Amino acid sequence: MPPQIQIALATGCVILAAWTVLPTPWPPMVSAATVVLAFGWLTFHIVSPRSQWIVPTSWRGAPSSPGLALTFDDGPDPEITPRALELLREHDARATFFLVGNRASAYPDLVRRLIAAGHQIGSHSHRHAHSFHFLPAKAMAAEIERGIDAIAAITGERPTAFRPPIGLRVPTLRQALTRLRQPVRCWSWTARGLDTLGRPAAAIVARLRPHLVPGAILTLHDGRGLGGSADRTPTLAALRELLTTMSARGLRSIRLDELDPLDGTRSA
Ligand SMILES: [Zn+2]
Repeated sequence: MPPQIQIALATGCVILAAWTVLPTPWPPMVSAATVVLAFGWLTFHIVSPRSQWIVPTSWRGAPSSPGLALTFDDGPDPEITPRALELLREHDARATFFLVGNRASAYPDLVRRLIAAGHQIGSHSHRHAHSFHFLPAKAMAAEIERGIDAIAAITGERPTAFRPPIGLRVPTLRQALTRLRQPVRCWSWTARGLDTLGRPAAAIVARLRPHLVPGAILTLHDGRGLGGSADRTPTLAALRELLTTMSARGLRSIRLDELDPLDGTRSA
């Protein structure tokens, strides 16, 4: 059943339930509260990285996984990505980079370096436009395909891991994903550093440290200029501290496709 129909039915059920227990005509405040509740409920499922209701989404691997998965969004960036690569190399760590298609096209050598270092490449749309989530399904699918094509033109492989901009999964995304030439798996995270908000490294580490466990998916940004702070110095400092802590605990950083599946399905 299309998500829009599900939403309409569920909203109708809420209104019907309210109608049966409340006196009519409804006070205006009750009508307004019902609409606000329905809107808030939908918003929760769009924003929550763990919600499966609108778009099936992987937000962590099984605890039996051989490590946790560090992921990076919004790159590649000619200054930040090489520094992140160097830190990962120092700790023999693997990660997954969700690349913006037009940035991959602008820096193809960086994409090749990611591949050569053994990291996984995912797609993070082609332009990472703020309008992405408001596109009709056909245009949204075209935008996703374009991002995947941009990466495939460099690597020769179409990435099968996809993370939507800002991690939002609107109802249209579900339809757009069914239009793709090849299926992709949608990935969110167990925890994110919120490193685009200009937070100091200590705050980023404090958010992520409780999730340094096998199977977790952690999100940072090696790209910039897509909103928020453009200073990735705290991100790199946090990455260094997290990798050091993980090494001390014997905890590996692995690719998303190395995680044991949480739900019995294969990862991508
Ligand atoms: Zn992003």
